[in-house]
Amino acid sequence: MKFTNLTRRTEIGANSYYLEIGRHRLLLDCGMHPKNTGEDALPDFKAIADREIKAIVISHAHQDHIGTLPLAMRRFPGARVFMTETTAEVGSVLLHNSVNVMTRQREEIGEPSYPLFTHRETDRASERWHWCPLRQQISIAGERTPRREKDALTFEFFEAGHVLGSSGVMLRADRQTVFYTGDVNFDDQTIMEAAVFPERKIDVLIIECTRGDHAKPQGWTRASEERRVADALGAAFERDACVLIPVFALGKTQEILGMLYKFRRQRLLPEFPIYIGGLSSKFTDIYDRRAHTTRRQLPRLRLMRDVAPFILNDETVRDTPVRGGRVYVLSSGMMIPKTLSNVFARRIIQNPQHSIFFVGYANPESPAGLLRDAGRAGEVALDPDKPPQRICSNIEQFQFSAHATRETLVAYSKRVSPKKILLVHGDPPAIEWMRATLSHELPAAEVIAPTPGVELDL
Ligand SMILES: [Zn+2]
Ligand SMILES: [Zn+2]
Repeated sequence: MKFTNLTRRTEIGANSYYLEIGRHRLLLDCGMHPKNTGEDALPDFKAIADREIKAIVISHAHQDHIGTLPLAMRRFPGARVFMTETTAEVGSVLLHNSVNVMTRQREEIGEPSYPLFTHRETDRASERWHWCPLRQQISIAGERTPRREKDALTFEFFEAGHVLGSSGVMLRADRQTVFYTGDVNFDDQTIMEAAVFPERKIDVLIIECTRGDHAKPQGWTRASEERRVADALGAAFERDACVLIPVFALGKTQEILGMLYKFRRQRLLPEFPIYIGGLSSKFTDIYDRRAHTTRRQLPRLRLMRDVAPFILNDETVRDTPVRGGRVYVLSSGMMIPKTLSNVFARRIIQNPQHSIFFVGYANPESPAGLLRDAGRAGEVALDPDKPPQRICSNIEQFQFSAHATRETLVAYSKRVSPKKILLVHGDPPAIEWMRATLSHELPAAEVIAPTPGVELDL
C-alpha cells in the first residue's frame, strides 16, 4: 500500500491524497485552496503525473475537498468518480460558482490561467459522477453488489456529521481496510446529526486533525453557546446595532439559520430581518429539499420558508442600508476579499455601534483571522486593494465548529485501534498534538504525519 499527501503544505488547503492498494490507484478528494490562487491553489498533481488513476473518491462538497475535481478528471480521464448523491448535488452548485469567481478573478488579480475550468466542463464532469448510497459496498467498477474477486476494491460511504452530504469512506482491498474520515463531527450540531462511523477494527485510518491544537473549552455545551449568541444578539439589538456573522455558504449558514429559527420559536428574541447571499440560498434550498431524506435535527424545518431570509448579491451588498436590528449571515467564512462578508464588513467596522460575530474556523492569515485576532481598536486591511481600517465595531467570538473535538478524534482512533494512523487536514500544531497524543495512547500503532509530496510505503 502506498500513500502520498498531495496537499502542498501541512495545512488545510487543497486537500488531496493519493492511495495505492494492490493494483488499484486512486485519489481521495481534489480540493482547491480557499485562499491561495493560481498554481498554489491546486493539489500537487505533478507528484503522481505518471500514474494512471482508476478512481476519485470525494468526501464532501467543500471547496477544499472538491474544488479541483473537473481539473483532476481532465488529467486522469480514465478515473471513475464516486460520492454521495447529496454531495453531487451540492458540489455541482459549488463548482459552477467557482467558475464565476475565477472568471472575475482573472481580471482582478491578473491570473491568466483562470477560470481553470468552464461551466460546460463542469456540467460534463458532473454527468460522469457515480452516486453512492450510504452504508453499501460499491466496487471500483461502480457495481452495488461487487463480485468477490480476490483483489477487488470496494468503497463504502458513512455519514460524517459535518455538512449536508459529508461522508467518511471505507476502502477494502487485499483483505485490508482503509478508512478516510474526510471532515467529521462526532457531536450533534444545530441541524446536522453526529457521524455514524464504522466501529470495528480498521487497518489504516486517515484522520482529519482540524481542531488538534485546541482543547474543548471547559464546561462548553452547544446549548449554552447558543444561549450566549441569543443574549449577544439581544444586547446588540438594544443598542440598535446590526450584526454581521461571516460563515461558509455550505454548512455554517444553515446551522446559523436553524439557530435563529430556534431563538424566534423560543421567544428569546423578537422577529428581525435576516440576510444571506445568493450562493448560500442555493445550498439552503438543497438542505430544505433533502430534509426528509437526510439524518438531521429539526426535520420539518424548511429554512427558506420558515426563516425567510432576504437575499443579497455582489451589488446589493454594497448599497443595502445598514440598519440596526438586522442580522447579516454572509459568506465567505474567511472573509476573502470581494466576497459579501468582506465587502459588508468594510462598511461597518469603523462604526462602534455595530457587531461582528465569529462562529467557526478561520485561517489565521485570512482576513477573518486577521480581524478576529486584531480585535477592537486594532487596525486591519480586509482587502489589500483598499487602505487599512481601524476596528471600532464590537467583535465577539463563539464556538460552533463543524469539526470533531480533538478529544473525540482520539476516542474514535482508540475504538478502531488501527495499525497505522495518517494525520491529515490540520495546521502543524494541530497535527503535532494529534501525533504526540495518539503515539502515547496507542503505543502499538504507527502514527504518521505524512510530509507533503513524499510517497509512503505502508
Ligand atoms: Zn469541510
Ligand atoms: Zn476541509
